Amino acid sequence: MTRLDTKDSLASLLAEIEYRNPAQPEFHQAAHEVLETLGPVLAVRPEYAEAGLIERLCEPERQIIFRVPWQDDRGRVHVNRGFRVEFNSALGPYKGGLRFHPSVNLGIIKFLGFEQVFKNALTGLGIGGGKGGSDFDPHGRSDAEVMRFCQSFMTELYRHIGEHTDVPAGDIGVGTREVGYLFGQYRRITNRWEAGVLTGKGPHWGGSLIRPEATGYGNVLFTEAMLRERGEDLEGQTAIVSGSGNVAIYTIEKLLALGANPLTCSDSGGYVIDEKGIDVGLLKQVKEVERGRISQYAERRGSSARFVPDGRVWEVPADIALPSATQNELDEKDAVTLIRNGVKAVSEGANMPTTPEAVHLLQQAGVAFGPGKAANAGGVAVSALEMAQNHSRTSWTATQVERELALIMCDIHTTCHETAERYGASGDYVTGANIAAFERVADAMLAQGVI
Ligand code: GLU
Repeated sequence: MTRLDTKDSLASLLAEIEYRNPAQPEFHQAAHEVLETLGPVLAVRPEYAEAGLIERLCEPERQIIFRVPWQDDRGRVHVNRGFRVEFNSALGPYKGGLRFHPSVNLGIIKFLGFEQVFKNALTGLGIGGGKGGSDFDPHGRSDAEVMRFCQSFMTELYRHIGEHTDVPAGDIGVGTREVGYLFGQYRRITNRWEAGVLTGKGPHWGGSLIRPEATGYGNVLFTEAMLRERGEDLEGQTAIVSGSGNVAIYTIEKLLALGANPLTCSDSGGYVIDEKGIDVGLLKQVKEVERGRISQYAERRGSSARFVPDGRVWEVPADIALPSATQNELDEKDAVTLIRNGVKAVSEGANMPTTPEAVHLLQQAGVAFGPGKAANAGGVAVSALEMAQNHSRTSWTATQVERELALIMCDIHTTCHETAERYGASGDYVTGANIAAFERVADAMLAQGVI
């Protein structure tokens, strides 16, 4: 039984989590970030602690690890490791993406799955939380190699998923191409057209319009809602965006649509700064069509853009910062730079891109901070809308989906804002998001008994 209403009880619970989950620093970090904000709700709702809810929430319902053997184009055999962590299904089937990246290990998937439980609860759409992936590196691999890898991955995964059980989607390294190969192999093995088993599908075979755009668009809408709370909007604001994948691209697209000026994007080689604002058409051509590097964007853009090798986008002065690449990409030093440069809002397009020390500094400096589990929930929210379309065998227009997305992001913002106020943490979206999500999952778990 954990009350978490004293520093000592929080410390001893975290020590136990670290002891039981060794060598998983990202999972420890994600658990710490949530648990340190729950004291006020546990103090007024002792039944949560009595039901062992914290301990149950921190232990995944199921963790699957499997071998993924595949052959490259030269016939050489490679062995990767596959993961699916089915974290919590109190609110609905497990839901969350698959990440293919060499950094993937169990701790990374657990941190992502843990975040996903809370994020999905905030959407209000009846989805539990899970995450999966592999340490496979798709970079430099041919289409045929990616296909063989996806087929091998699904040959094990298929027995654990289903439209009412667990519904994977994309994340870093997994987009429409990979979802296509995964879906094809699932269909072949099961002999079922089960559209709702995966989301992020292509628009002509069960996918939802606006799904590719949803995470980035949603984060910009969340940022706008935070600014409105302070009597401002996005018109004319400069923005720095990190990353150049799906989230970054559609963040930039929406910023441009709302009259803001996105100045940067980045990849592991460095960043691009474009004084005229990023040309999203050229960025899509380089990244989505050619699967190239962003240095090529700078080479082709002309004199307004330059590539800064090995630099960090956070050194570019701007009104808004939207980290949209990966975990822990914005640290304490970066936060000091942002604050010095007068940043007004930081909102997380990626999952846990800001270190805890950086979050605290930004909040202390009065910067509006949007935590990923609220700010980037638009992606999984439209995934849930894709499931709804699949179940009813209909497809909605882009306008319909975008309208729903806007309503959901507005609702998430209001929920986080009001919950923070209710618990005496006005303006603190981290506390608001954690408590609001926790209450939803915890109430469902309480109602469903000790399982
Ligand atoms: N990977 C995305 C996320 O971090 C989307 C998951 C989904 O659509 O299921 O939320």
